[in-house]
Amino acid sequence: MNKLILAVLLSLACAIPLYAQTAVSARAREIQASVLVIDTHADAPQRFLDDNYDIGSTDPKDLAHISLDKAKAGNLGAEFFSIWVEPDTNQGHFAHKALDLIDSVYEQAARHPDRMMMAFSPDDIERAHREHKFAALLGMEGGHPIENDVRLLRDFYRLGVRYMTLTWSNTNEWADSSGDINNPQVEHHNGLTEGGKQIVLEMNRLGMMVDISHVSDKTFYDAIAVTKAPIIASHSSARALTNHLRDMTDDMLRAVAKNGGVVQVNFNNRVIDENYRLADIALAKDRAAAVKAYTDQLKAAGKTVTFIDSDRILREWNAKIPRPPLKSLIDHIDHVAKVAGIDHVGLGSDFDGVSGATPAGIDSAADLPKITQALLDRGYNADDLHKLLGGNLLRVFREAERVSREMQARK
Ligand SMILES: [Zn+2]
Repeated sequence: MNKLILAVLLSLACAIPLYAQTAVSARAREIQASVLVIDTHADAPQRFLDDNYDIGSTDPKDLAHISLDKAKAGNLGAEFFSIWVEPDTNQGHFAHKALDLIDSVYEQAARHPDRMMMAFSPDDIERAHREHKFAALLGMEGGHPIENDVRLLRDFYRLGVRYMTLTWSNTNEWADSSGDINNPQVEHHNGLTEGGKQIVLEMNRLGMMVDISHVSDKTFYDAIAVTKAPIIASHSSARALTNHLRDMTDDMLRAVAKNGGVVQVNFNNRVIDENYRLADIALAKDRAAAVKAYTDQLKAAGKTVTFIDSDRILREWNAKIPRPPLKSLIDHIDHVAKVAGIDHVGLGSDFDGVSGATPAGIDSAADLPKITQALLDRGYNADDLHKLLGGNLLRVFREAERVSREMQARK
């Protein structure tokens, strides 16, 4: 009889889907469940808008990193959805596109009021958590959608945008980007222009967090010198481990610590694994040609090319490079925690923005507890994890609000 029960149990264990068969211990699950996990970068709005994706999707074949079920399985409490406007295909209507993306997030929240809510403050994030709802926040990736108009910056704040990455991969009229800093055809400014510095100060006054992911090194140092509030890197990793210009040097990590800010470590294979980065560079030319051939074909047929269209091709190409182990990501988190300090590190996944290029085992938000487990294995304790998984970001967000109140009171 006992043998029979054992046999039944064994066969049941084998039937558990792969994603549930993780090496996550009861202690890691317990810690994960006791904290408010906040991720600061997901590109899901492109899917909401272009693919008509529903965050309530329960389709097991669905490739999206973020769904309400996946967030619940990984105990992800709050997500900053990226308002990212592709600068080439949206020439002449950056702000319009940003407004469409913002709308797409609100529409998801409206569709699932029992499980999801828009959040605009640290208090909102905590309230959502108490009400067992997924908190959706907005972060704008790149300064170009404000179209050089501080009034638009304020309008975006009023709509709920709570951080702005000063640049994406494109240098704009007031800030240099790491993405094109070595391109002599692009007109650069040696960091932030005077106008760019005024934009940073206006963000401080509004209470919009200043995000330095993607900016050039000089823009970083200019921003950190001028800001009155702690800054964030919404999705950046460590250059000492992976030699990518998108990543932050140890000196930059220490500067963020001194400023009281937080570096939210990016999961993108390209910026967390040197072997992957080199293999990726080797493929880049052919991959770009394949994307161009495909999108040209769509254009010739009179169709609008969307993010999802190129994502489809990019996934096929990314799949040619072996995924790095989870260890690569954990090494980056550990490095930032050691160099900047445990009070200055967090998670900025870049979910749904990397066309499948995440480390082995990290296939969606449901896999976040694996990171908690790996950090426990490296000696991080519950207090450390509480800070890293969301506490640090909440502290910086609160400080941005405090600085804003102070600046507004001064007039
Ligand atoms: Zn990005």
